[in-house]
Amino acid sequence: MLSLMAGGAACACCGLVHAKKLAYDLTVREIASGTWLVEGRSEYFSLENGGNIVNIAFIEVPDGVVVIDSGPSRRYGEALQALIESTVPGKPVLRVYNTHHHPDHFLGNQVFDPGVIAAPQQVIDNIIAEGDAFADNMYRLLGDWMRGTAVMAPAVAIDTDFEDVGGRRFSLYHLSGHTSADLVIRDDETGVVFTGDLAFLHRAPTTPHADITTWQESLGSIASIDRDLLVPGHGALDSSGESIEQTRDYIHWLEASLTDATSLGLTMNEAMVLPIPKRFASMSVVETEYQRSVVHLYLQLEDSVMPLIELK
Ligand SMILES: [Zn+2]
Repeated sequence: MLSLMAGGAACACCGLVHAKKLAYDLTVREIASGTWLVEGRSEYFSLENGGNIVNIAFIEVPDGVVVIDSGPSRRYGEALQALIESTVPGKPVLRVYNTHHHPDHFLGNQVFDPGVIAAPQQVIDNIIAEGDAFADNMYRLLGDWMRGTAVMAPAVAIDTDFEDVGGRRFSLYHLSGHTSADLVIRDDETGVVFTGDLAFLHRAPTTPHADITTWQESLGSIASIDRDLLVPGHGALDSSGESIEQTRDYIHWLEASLTDATSLGLTMNEAMVLPIPKRFASMSVVETEYQRSVVHLYLQLEDSVMPLIELK
């Protein structure tokens, strides 16, 4: 009997430990009047962080709440929803924007009413085309954190330059370069601009779908937006425009350095161990992201530097 009880206690204990390990410990910070940031860690996806590496935000508007991105999993979406309900009690979520189709930004969609989730049509098409493959990869990276997560594309396609949501106007900028469609959102009341992953600060940019030339143009567009505060998709808040400059500098260096490497005939493995300039040392996960960027960009740069010739 005693041994049975002991066994039961041990199981209960394991269960508790397990449950605690898989709980997102989300906290909010009010960054402007009625605007809350749920700041992600400046890390890469891991079993320890459950994919909580992305900056999510929500805004109280007169008649409800507007949410910027939904996080990496259903479990994250549930934690986010609970946080919204405790921070802004009794107010309905009227709009969830997905800034682009990378998995850490939309896999929490399931917990919201599909009819309030909106993105440009190209973002929706990208989620439909690549969402399942992203979700599979996230299951491999994050295991049980992803349990119950399925792809849910936004039901609302937006093509306008602004929306009035619940008594608040939001300006919408349809840009691209980090992916083939990146939505930037400005709260016209507070002047807070949510850049999605077009801007990073003190966290290395990611490039799996990058078009560097277009990305640079989009950063120029963001620089010209009248604003009080920038919220990058990953990394620190930015009141000075530093995220724009740092992202510009980094992707410029990345392209120039890898173009040089292809011209010199270096292999991908040789390019991966090239030195990273000291000015990028403050960026988290820069070595990992640099190596991932070599994989993403090298073959395409080799093709442009060394076009194939026809042998007759
Ligand atoms: Zn991201």
